[in-house]
Amino acid sequence: MSGKPLLPGTATLGVMGGGQLGRMFVQAAQSLGYRTVVLDPDAVSPAGAVAHEHIQADYLDEAGLARLAAQCDAITTEFENVPAAALERLAQQRFVAPAGAAVAVCQDRADEKAHFQASGVACAPYALLRSDADLAAVPASLLPGILKTARMGYDGKGQLRVRSAAELAQAWDELKRVPCVLEQMLPLALELSVLVVRNAAGQVVSFPVQQNLHRDGILAVTQVPAPAASAALQQQARESAARIAASLHYVGVLCIEFFVLQDGALVVNEMAPRPHNSGHYTMNACDVSQFEMQVRALAGLPLPTPRLHSPTVMLNLLGDLWFEPGSTAERSPDWAAVLALPGTHLHLYGKTSARRGRKMGHLNITAATAAEAEAVARQAAALLG
Ligand code: ADP
Ligand code: MG
Repeated sequence: MSGKPLLPGTATLGVMGGGQLGRMFVQAAQSLGYRTVVLDPDAVSPAGAVAHEHIQADYLDEAGLARLAAQCDAITTEFENVPAAALERLAQQRFVAPAGAAVAVCQDRADEKAHFQASGVACAPYALLRSDADLAAVPASLLPGILKTARMGYDGKGQLRVRSAAELAQAWDELKRVPCVLEQMLPLALELSVLVVRNAAGQVVSFPVQQNLHRDGILAVTQVPAPAASAALQQQARESAARIAASLHYVGVLCIEFFVLQDGALVVNEMAPRPHNSGHYTMNACDVSQFEMQVRALAGLPLPTPRLHSPTVMLNLLGDLWFEPGSTAERSPDWAAVLALPGTHLHLYGKTSARRGRKMGHLNITAATAAEAEAVARQAAALLG
């Protein structure tokens, strides 16, 4: 946003997408006094249910986009696979952040990796697979590796682990020979992520580093402060994230995932052009949440450096918790028991039906010390199990 900020209480903010990230963005915007509009094709969505207005339209529907642009002073997106063309269309009329061009880089693992390299941040050794010639030229040093579709992968979907050239050829067939990236399988010690926020004036701030645990390719637990990462490593991750955001001329919240290898090296994995599941801890553990920061960046407001005021553990609440273990019988998690534990903050996304693997909500556990937060998290997990 060049020029004057959109002051709280005076403007309307729009969001492309009606999922939980859109919902929490809308809630943060509303708490600052903004009017909110969501565009999403589904009649019922987590964000559509809480926004002042829901435009039910496809992401490329011209009439829907025109209505969104007419109603809003500035527009953001809550998911990275929003068609970049839709963002570019909106940008003809309104301030849009992040910009379609930046989102497009994040949508394609090949472009994303090229951008990491251009920013001077090391990523896993990789090769692009687009043709038979590419397949034949894959160096043996990349095996064993992980084959990932260049586009549309998330939560471990669109990925296959391969040990040999024969398995690679078979895996690429299985992925329908769409453009892919083959990455060397790295010896991970831990996984970190960093939320970095940049506004149009070029101000850049980052949040404290998250340490993440994934189960079956889906984020399960986030801990802050990151228990196993040195202060120097965390500083390096934050500086790398700031460099990546600045060289993209990015505006908004950007989440960057890193690997720490067994030899201590920091390697960038991927990035998401939006608030991120691993950043949900900020809602209760920081003096400003990732969603409020997205609002501020979009509205051209100042970006104070976020401060962690409580050590925290975030537990993702997947739909599996709504089923008896190993059965299809449904149940309700015992929220009263969970909320009896000190420092528990429950966030449910208003999804009407549970499915295994579906993100239904998250539980932030804050405490005076990291050890206390971990102890309560273990109790909460046992109650939910
Ligand atoms: P997604 O878009 O599904 O999150 P990621 O690229 O982040 O895909 O991969 C999902 C998970 O798979 C990572 O969080 C990590 O645990 C593991 N992983 C991905 N790439 C590698 C790699 N090159 N070496 C080792 N583990 C990896
Ligand atoms: Mg990932």
